[in-house]
Amino acid sequence: MVQALRRTLALPGARTKPKRKTKNSRFEKKILELGRKHFAEDFLNPSRQGCPLKNQLKLLAEKPRKAKVSVLNHISFCSPCYRTYSHFLQIQKARLSSRRK
Ligand SMILES: [Zn+2]
Repeated sequence: MVQALRRTLALPGARTKPKRKTKNSRFEKKILELGRKHFAEDFLNPSRQGCPLKNQLKLLAEKPRKAKVSVLNHISFCSPCYRTYSHFLQIQKARLSSRRK
């Protein structure tokens, strides 16, 4: 009886699949799309109208889920802020990859 139960639990189909962070990868895809758009055409915002604070851009790079959507929307049409954001993103990525090693 116990053995039968063990066999049931050991079924390959019962293995749990590794969880995928679909939300995060979708977010990254959006950022990559933004990057392509910015490379294709420069969104100049000389007066820096409605620019969020630098620490808001930093927050978006470090904790995208905690950042305001308005900041994300803003970097989609403001090149200076996008550049600041991607700078923070690179720092963040370097930090994450060094932690994994
Ligand atoms: Zn801006």
